[in-house]
Amino acid sequence: MDTLTPALFVGHGSPMTTITDNSERRALTALGPRLPKPEAILCITAHWETHGATHVTAGPAPRTIHDFRGFPPELYQVRYPAPGAEALASRIAELLGSERLVCDGGWGYDHGVWGVLQPLFPDADIPVLAMSLDRSIDPAGHLEIGRKLAPLRGEGVMIVASGNIVHNLSLWRALAGSRPDWLVRFQERINAAVTTGDAQALTCFAADDEAASAAINSGEHYLPLLYPFGARGEGEAVTAFNDSVDGALSMTSYLFGDASLLDGIVAMATLPASA
Ligand code: ZN
Repeated sequence: MDTLTPALFVGHGSPMTTITDNSERRALTALGPRLPKPEAILCITAHWETHGATHVTAGPAPRTIHDFRGFPPELYQVRYPAPGAEALASRIAELLGSERLVCDGGWGYDHGVWGVLQPLFPDADIPVLAMSLDRSIDPAGHLEIGRKLAPLRGEGVMIVASGNIVHNLSLWRALAGSRPDWLVRFQERINAAVTTGDAQALTCFAADDEAASAAINSGEHYLPLLYPFGARGEGEAVTAFNDSVDGALSMTSYLFGDASLLDGIVAMATLPASA
């Protein structure tokens, strides 16, 4: 078990989280130096959706993508110049089947990628492979990909999935600054399912499950969770941090692996953002 590289699901929220001081970012900047330095990072991103296959970035130096509009100029100046990880792409093709994987030179490091890697690994010196979500498959299919990627954790690869469990932009303005009970309860439900390893509860939602429909909404920010969850080691610890709901967004993140890496950080992460 000790030989497994820790894996993460990180709630990324607004792009501004990366360039402002807030408790969530402080937790990531504190955690990063404690993590064993991986040989490569596989980052599954909510911001890259494909159809019919899983895509990964290609080339020695993928570009930084600013996939948002209407934010301050300094956000568009952020660059994350991590080298690509082409050898890792070959290994993933072995695990998933080469017909399921497309090396895509048209994409780069989007906000889902650099928004979480910049605070965790600001030196940008670890090779990174960004991975898309194939929206032609159902949640169980995403979980299955996560399971197939599990061997990477014994090969020095850190799986970092980037999204948000609760993410509903159409409700975001109306609910901002509040903590609706039904969303808090939904987040607690997911936390329980993740920590107890309840795959069914994470992949099957009833048609009349209104909380799930509103929280998960269009799905792309939720699905990345299923990758590190699928790659979880037998009996491995999983710890929630940054576990807060603000309106229609939760920043809840999980560490799969040695919980002591978060000692002192969880408490800091639960401080109000204004503290
Ligand atoms: Zn996002």
